[in-house]
Amino acid sequence: MTRIARNHFPYYYMITPNSLFFNYQKSVKVVKILKDNFPNEVFALKENSINIQSKTNSRLCKGSNNGISDRAHYHNSKPPRICLKQKFLKDPDCYYTMSYISTPKKWIKVTGTLAIIDLMCHETAHHRTTGHRKGFKIKYSRFFKFMINKLISGEYYQ
Ligand SMILES: [Zn+2]
Ligand SMILES: [Zn+2]
Repeated sequence: MTRIARNHFPYYYMITPNSLFFNYQKSVKVVKILKDNFPNEVFALKENSINIQSKTNSRLCKGSNNGISDRAHYHNSKPPRICLKQKFLKDPDCYYTMSYISTPKKWIKVTGTLAIIDLMCHETAHHRTTGHRKGFKIKYSRFFKFMINKLISGEYYQ
């Protein structure tokens, strides 16, 4: 079983539902479900594997990564790690990955749980896969479809 860090946030993150802390937990949950179902394609999920970017924990954001974005990035150096921006966790939104990596490009925005699922499937799919070419598309699509089915069936909420 994978252990998730519980205590590395200031207590005030836990005050309200839909707060940064809750969205962080949702983000970890997505990666955990992916890890349970695609064990060989997902990095080992440990304490600090999903990192909330901040000045105080900048040591967790070292090594090469797949580019700095507005919301998140994946570190392909060891240990593998996803860094999430606080801005995203406070109010999750992103562009649906398939909409902008396919041609013709569209920029379809998604928010809330769907944004968390999309972003986490995207960053997790970068494990051993850089860029947004065919290999990435196949892996990301498999993860995303799997998660959407979990959502539709209601299993995601169990
Ligand atoms: Zn980082
Ligand atoms: Zn990417």
